[in-house]
Amino acid sequence: ITVKPGAKIADYKAYGSLYSSVLDFMEQAQEPIDTLKGKTVWMINSTAIGGGVAEMLPSQMRILRELGTSIEWLVIEAKEKSFFDLTKRIHNAIHGSGNGVFTEDDRKIYEAVNRNNLAKALEFINDGDIVVVHDPQPMPLAAMIKKEKDVSIIWRCHIGLEDDTEVTDAVWEFLKPYTNDYDHFVFSLPSYVPKSLKSRSSIIPPAIDPLSHKNRELQLHKCIGILYQSGILDDHKAILYNRYNHLVRKVMPDGSFGTLDEGTNLNLIYRPIITEISRWDRLKGFKELMEAFIKMKLDNRKNGDPDSLDYKQIEMALLIMGGPDPAFVSDDPEGEEVLKELIETYKEVDSAMQNDIAILLLPLDNPKENALIVNAIQRTSSIIVQNSIQEGFGLTATEAMWKRKPVLVSNAAGLKFQVVHNKTGQINPDPTNIPALSKTMAHMLNNPKDRDKWGFNGQLRVIQNFTLFSQLLSWLEVLSANKN
Ligand code: UDP
Repeated sequence: ITVKPGAKIADYKAYGSLYSSVLDFMEQAQEPIDTLKGKTVWMINSTAIGGGVAEMLPSQMRILRELGTSIEWLVIEAKEKSFFDLTKRIHNAIHGSGNGVFTEDDRKIYEAVNRNNLAKALEFINDGDIVVVHDPQPMPLAAMIKKEKDVSIIWRCHIGLEDDTEVTDAVWEFLKPYTNDYDHFVFSLPSYVPKSLKSRSSIIPPAIDPLSHKNRELQLHKCIGILYQSGILDDHKAILYNRYNHLVRKVMPDGSFGTLDEGTNLNLIYRPIITEISRWDRLKGFKELMEAFIKMKLDNRKNGDPDSLDYKQIEMALLIMGGPDPAFVSDDPEGEEVLKELIETYKEVDSAMQNDIAILLLPLDNPKENALIVNAIQRTSSIIVQNSIQEGFGLTATEAMWKRKPVLVSNAAGLKFQVVHNKTGQINPDPTNIPALSKTMAHMLNNPKDRDKWGFNGQLRVIQNFTLFSQLLSWLEVLSANKN
């Protein structure tokens, strides 16, 4: 995969004390970088677009390349639905969901698809190189490569569950033939490391690139421009520079997919917006969020004082649920089904209420436009929600905090680690508890001063803990300690 040009180290340095981590990084990076001379680091995953892995790799690779490290990115080729059905089951099981049953037929599918990618990988990879595999899909491939070449192999797991369960035990048992061959493992949190891998693991919490299109500063007029041009806001002038027009599709009241042409716009400029942007995954808690939003509105109409500001805030609120247009997602077979379920629920919603809820399909095949649209939506939102039932580490929450937005999250392990309750947002313990979620949302909408405070603290927390450079230093340490 080719990585497009982007920000350079000097660009980050220009932010001075805000990015003191860049300066620390530059001081400490040289030694491990030198130990990697003559080797290539190969990142392997299952998709070039969508999700946290594809989000983080380009920025990391750009910086390491600028410092002289040879680093490349390979994406496995797989068309078989049965393969992605299986890897999604493995993914869910690592999160503790599903029945944890994996059969020898599953193993055959898993290995066959990985084996189909072996010859191609061997053309690129040389003795002495380091192979980093992301998530379960390509896990057997590196073990196969290691049998042919003298390479070190590292598995980067972006998911996890705090406590071992029968299901997680079963999936780790299924993966054992491959994990046995790996030299090292990287998890996002200490509690995600299964006992059997503890002695060979490091912890690297994911981080965001503050200067990427997803996160770079967008002035208000830019945000409005992007939202106009993608049709999310209505403006006849948008026709003049319709760069993003028709890139975003919207779920219409009858459940069909429409474009955001005149008449279907959301008129969001005067409204407080509550946003969740994620893959269409049951574990992201979209359906529960929509139910809680509806309950908040209905309770307000029943019990609120129509003359009060609080009442109006809630009455005007708009919920945006955005996710990848399923037409462009190849590695998540569940996505389409989960979106369909959400649409079925949306179709049943009373038509006036439907106008307060927007399900948007974002253009994953245009990564820059997708990133700018997500950036603009996040920046125009009053509250960013990540209502995940399970979450290894929610980049979306970090992205929101970086943008000074108060976040409303569940206490899924990753989110609990990122967000400090009452300081950078609110943690609603149970994402399936609709009344509690609805109450917390109303409380946040009606307390702008708290929102501002939480947003500010969140931004500081991200600068101190979750930006690119601290993560890269940990990576360099892992790579140089595990080279052959
Ligand atoms: N994302 C996006 N467009 C979408 C949905 C998600 O750009 O339609 C991005 C989102 O901004 C974030 C990443 O995909 O950067 C998701 O990472 P996260 O860690 O939140 O969840 P994952 O998908 O890895 O489970």
